[in-house]
Amino acid sequence: MIFEQVSRLFEDGWKHPEKKRPKIKRIYVIDLPDHLNESYQEYKDMLARQNGSSGVNEQLVFHGTTRTCSLGEDISDLCEKVTCILCCILKTSFLVSKSGSAGRTFKRFGPGIYTSSVSSKADDYTQAPWFSDDRIIIVARVALGKSSIHYRTTEYLTEPPIGYDSILGEVGINLNYNEQVLFKDEAIRPAYIVVYERPTAAPAPPAPRPAPQPTRPNPATTTTSSSSSSGCTIM
Ligand SMILES: [Zn+2]
Repeated sequence: MIFEQVSRLFEDGWKHPEKKRPKIKRIYVIDLPDHLNESYQEYKDMLARQNGSSGVNEQLVFHGTTRTCSLGEDISDLCEKVTCILCCILKTSFLVSKSGSAGRTFKRFGPGIYTSSVSSKADDYTQAPWFSDDRIIIVARVALGKSSIHYRTTEYLTEPPIGYDSILGEVGINLNYNEQVLFKDEAIRPAYIVVYERPTAAPAPPAPRPAPQPTRPNPATTTTSSSSSSGCTIM
């Protein structure tokens, strides 16, 4: 069920006409430590009090990142490398303080956490490891609250304008595909990872896709406390 729902979200979000549809191989459910679930829920409760019950505006969005370890290759254990962006995010969730530290020096709306509802845009930020063609996109839950809508690049932003909780970069002038920017760690949590492969230049004939069951990363490793992973240096 989860596989169907998340793969449909991923496939429906694949918007770039010039990019061939990828092959989804596996989908993992992220089992977060309790304290990360609790702080996210507290943030949503705060938004509901502040904006009214319709003002939480929770969505599932995509975040592409580099894959360097074997996570997703048939194993579900997080690695211990402090340079592994993917495993760092899955251990600590996203951190605003790490914005741009993975080499994305251009930050269209300032130093926040960037996501998109367009999976093929998140794909631009993925990188496969040397030993595999499989890439990973994180599907994240975000509590957008009230979004300030921006059509133009505004790099000087350090937080949403007063009265808003997030930035929504909209299509029209500087953007071809949307992006959501969060400025608080507790406004976003990784929910799933999608392991997929870009099609090769010569497209294979369509074939019925097997329907693997969603798997869950080993709780013994995904519940690693943030203190033990504080050595993570990049995001
Ligand atoms: Zn790793």
